[in-house]
Amino acid sequence: MNIKLYELREDEKPALAEVMARIGAVDARMADDAQVAGDASVGAGAASRVDDATRPGAAPQASDAPKRGAALQACAAPSGITIDAVPDELGLENVASAQGFDAVVISGRSAMTAEVLDRLAELGVKYLATRTVGVDHIDVAHAHELGLRVCNTGYPPEGVAEFAVMLMLIVLRRYKPSLWRQQVNDYSLGGLEGRELGRLTVGIVGTGRIGQQVARILGGFGSKVLGYDPYPSDAARAAGIEYVPLEELYRRSDVVTLHVPLTEENRGMIDAEAINQMRDGVVLVNVSRGELIDVAAVTSAIEFEKIGALAMDVFADEVGIYHESRVNDIIRNRDMAYLRQFPNVVLTPHMAFYTDTNVNSMVEQSVRGVIAMAEGPGSWASEA
Ligand code: NAD
Repeated sequence: MNIKLYELREDEKPALAEVMARIGAVDARMADDAQVAGDASVGAGAASRVDDATRPGAAPQASDAPKRGAALQACAAPSGITIDAVPDELGLENVASAQGFDAVVISGRSAMTAEVLDRLAELGVKYLATRTVGVDHIDVAHAHELGLRVCNTGYPPEGVAEFAVMLMLIVLRRYKPSLWRQQVNDYSLGGLEGRELGRLTVGIVGTGRIGQQVARILGGFGSKVLGYDPYPSDAARAAGIEYVPLEELYRRSDVVTLHVPLTEENRGMIDAEAINQMRDGVVLVNVSRGELIDVAAVTSAIEFEKIGALAMDVFADEVGIYHESRVNDIIRNRDMAYLRQFPNVVLTPHMAFYTDTNVNSMVEQSVRGVIAMAEGPGSWASEA
């Protein structure tokens, strides 16, 4: 199988090298580097990628040979899998670059419109994997009409859950104004008195994978953990969550944290009515999706001090801003700019997922996903 991987980022290179080494059950250290490098079946992109991953910019040394040989040998054997990895996004203008490949692996920037999918199918591409959880950049229905099989990737919930708890601590201990002050050698304590997470009640809205992990972590702090989910689960109860109706969760929680998907029903669920049911001075944490909150209602509740602190890793219309360097640009997102200036509002650029474990997982699962899909229907759990 020939795989073309697009949008390869620097931070993904070591993960890809490891996946390539693992795909084939070959004794990597015994590989003859020169022989493998001369193997015409090895993708040129893959070869250069492994060199880069080993030591960026450095000329290969004799001592590097076994490691580089490992990945290359594994890439080419035993099932004849080749991987050509490039940094470019895949789109209509360069879709011809997928010629000769059975599978393409993309990330979130490659928009797989019906037109691009038509061209991929014409070129003989049969499998498409995205190194993201979401598949909203792919016209999945059209891919299915063309017989193109699509899969996404998942990753363990721990990284996002830890980030959510970190945000709770940051706002509860007033770290943002403390950090501001330190920049100008102001080490005073006035106004920085915090609250202890272990003495508070945390309400988890959405008790799926991430919500449950948040509950497990909070158990270590000693917090009281309430939960609401239309589909309560024993696993969540075992994680320490006490289920209550949503109104009760809002009424009793010092901290409300959102772990629900964005759906049409959930859009704007944190509106004025929901906020009014919450405790005065509530801490609101959102690492799920920006559109879950009614930003006007939340901003107003910050201004009138109904909400005591807000921490969000996501924001409505964040695409084109988050994950980009926009230092010289005029950014058109007034809500984001206005909220960012408050001492009790912490905004992070959609980075809760971004850990070494999750990057490895996304790269590995996408490559394994296209290989598994080729083995037949039902062979890969996350097929869309
Ligand atoms: P999950 O599917 O395991 O759990 C979601 C839970 O929410 C389910 O139990 C579902 O029944 C529940 N739910 C749905 N609507 C609800 C509602 N109105 N009220 C209460 N509960 C409701 O999903 P997960 O893996 O825990 O992820 C949750 C969300 O986190 C994702 O949908 C995604 O938006 C977000 N996320 C963000 C990042 C990041 O980097 N910031 C990374 C991964 C996921």
